[in-house]
Parts: sequence; structure tokens; C-alpha cells
Amino acid sequence: SLKMGIVGLPNVGKSTFFNTLTKLNIPAENYPFCTIEPNEARVTLPDDRFNYLCDVHKPASKVPAYLEVWDIAGLVKGASEGHGLGSEFLSNINAVDGLFHVCRVFDDEEVIHVEGSVNPVRDLEIISSELILKDLQKVDFVLPDLQQKIARLGHGCPKELKKEEEVLTKVKKVLDEDKKPVRCVDWTGAEIEVLNKHLFLTAKPGIYLVNLSEKDFARRKNKWLPKIKEWVDEYANGEPIIPFSASQEAKLVDIEVNEGVEAVTKYCEDNKAQSMLTRIIKLGFTTLQLIYFFTAGSDEVKCWTIRKGTLAPQAAGTIHTDFEKGFICAEIMAFEDFKELKTENAVKAAGKYKQQGKTYEVHDGDIIFFKHNV
Ligand code: GDP
Repeated sequence: SLKMGIVGLPNVGKSTFFNTLTKLNIPAENYPFCTIEPNEARVTLPDDRFNYLCDVHKPASKVPAYLEVWDIAGLVKGASEGHGLGSEFLSNINAVDGLFHVCRVFDDEEVIHVEGSVNPVRDLEIISSELILKDLQKVDFVLPDLQQKIARLGHGCPKELKKEEEVLTKVKKVLDEDKKPVRCVDWTGAEIEVLNKHLFLTAKPGIYLVNLSEKDFARRKNKWLPKIKEWVDEYANGEPIIPFSASQEAKLVDIEVNEGVEAVTKYCEDNKAQSMLTRIIKLGFTTLQLIYFFTAGSDEVKCWTIRKGTLAPQAAGTIHTDFEKGFICAEIMAFEDFKELKTENAVKAAGKYKQQGKTYEVHDGDIIFFKHNV
């Protein structure tokens, strides 16, 4: 399954953020055959549509969608050369599909900054260059061998190899000369095929989480915010930036766990506080290009996570591999139609309950019943 990783320099608030997420872990009984690792969080995706379906069907079992998040602690300057357990951390980044970059803007004399002072742009730069250097090492390792092979084959060289060489040479230029991540370039479909073979760290999409003091977060103001935006626009493909306060999020989750949701609402009103977690989790999900469809009935209401672009038979396969092999058709209504018309029969009467075949691309929020010959 696809996952997000949390990265950032030491003491920027990663563990605080990660621990907050683990308190929102989905109940283990929903996934009896999965073990959750200590550095892994499975966070329920808040979704009004799911809640609505549960209210309507009152099912015995409710299974929401979740985002898988891994804590990748300890990236420091020099990691690409093996400093501070660097290579281990970088290989952990290899295992995730997108990154939450946490950077520190809060000032606190009690909390040491590894680089000596608060400067999130420099910090982002450090992490980014470590990842760029690691990718460069990779290209420098692969490219000479490939070039030798092409020379050896001469005229008999397959054109895929030449294409690969061309793409890797371009990657090297982007990393080495432009000092930019691989994802800053608009690659063609054919180029992306080559890139997918090599899984560059700087190809992984990111979300920038800016950890502000509670006071700065409340007024959405800090001198670093525009500078971070400028940097992300230039060096990180203009990816999303979410200002938040890790310590406030930690507080809010504790209130929620101990006193309930109403207590959180009250605390937020009294203290001008606001949680950004829902937005962060949902954005993580879309960054991974994930969506989900529902199956809904009195036994169970369940979200099934798929990659955007998945066709109906493969979507059926997430429920059971046999459903894919024996796929006949998918009976589908859009959640919005169901909500508006209230019952399945009403949706049918309105002609909005549709049978779809093998080439149907499943949409986020489809409510599906698969027909199969199993
Ligand atoms: P990590 O090394 O990036 O995982 O950072 P931690 O989450 O362990 O945080 C390092 C220290 O900074 C801890 O003492 C936290 O309590 C503190 N800290 C984290 N977030 C905030 C914050 O938003 N404001 C303040 N003042 N301190 C924070």
C-alpha cells in the first residue's frame, strides 16, 4: 500500500506530530490481520459521506479509509555521505511514496536547533540537497554502466537503452546543474516510464508542514511564511504548504481522546485554536493519488482504497482477487445521488443507478455492488 513518510531535521516537531497521529490510529479490530509497526500510524480519513452511510445503514461493521504514515526520524546534514545513520534514513525514504516535510518556525530557547538558529528555508535547503545528492549518487552509479553497454552494443543497441540513457542524462543535469529535484521537471509519459524504474527520492511528491508557535499560527503571521512559499515555488514544484502548530495539535488530540469532540470545539473557541489535521491527512491521501469507493449495506459500510484511474475489475480485486477474475459488471451509484434521493430505489427510478463494465474508471465516492461469477 502507498504511504507518506515524515521527514525533517531533528527537533522540528516530527515526533510531536507523529505521536498525535498515532493517537488517531484506526481501531485494530478493523484490521485483524495487520500489525502496526512502532514507527507507523494508520490514521482514519475523516469523511462526512462515510458517516452518512453509517447513519443510514447502521451496519454491524464500519471500516473507514486510512492514511498510512511513517515516521522517518533523523535526517541531518551529511546524511547522503552516511552521517548520523544517514544511509539508513535515506533508505527508509525509499520505502514511502510521498513526504510530509516538517520544518520549524517556532522559537523556543529550551529546544535546541541542530543548526544553531531558526531558519526554515536553510533547513528545507539542507534536506532537499541531501535527497538531491543521494539521487545524484544513484545516477552516477547507473549511468556509466549503461553508457558502456550502449557503446558495446553499437548499432545493435535497443532504442529503450538509448532512451534510458537520454533520460538519466537529463536527470543528472537537473540534479547537478539546476540543483533541483527530479519532480520539478515536466516529464513526458515515456520519460516517466524510465523514471519509474529508478525510483528517485526527489521524485516523491511532498507537502510542507510549517510548525509555527501557537500565537503565530492563530494570527497566520510569521516573517518566514512568505520566504518558505518562495522557496517551495522555486525548488519544490510549488507543492502545498500547510502552516500548523504541532504542540497545539498534540493538545487538541489529548482533549479529544480524554474529554470528547465537544470539549475540543470549546477549547478552540476559547483559545482561537484550530486543528489542521483533517486537511493534512486528506491532502496526504490525494498526494498519493489515492481515492476510495464504498460498499454499503446493513452488514458493513466500508471504504476501499484504490489508486486514481483504477478500472472496475481491479477495484473489485481489492475486495477479493476472485472478484477480479470473475468480474461481470459493477452496479454503481454516486454518493451524491444517493444522498440527494435518499434510497437505492429512488436512485434507480431516477435512472442514476448504472451498470458499468470492464473499462469503467471508478470514481471517488462511488457506491458499488460488484456482480461476479464466483
Ligand atoms: P523531532 O526531533 O523533529 O521529532 O522533534 P520533537 O517532536 O521531538 O520536538 C522536539 C522538541 O520541541 C520537544 O521538546 C517538543 O516538545 C518541542 N516542540 C515540538 N513542537 C513544538 C511547538 O510547536 N512549539 C514549541 N514551543 N515546542 C515544540
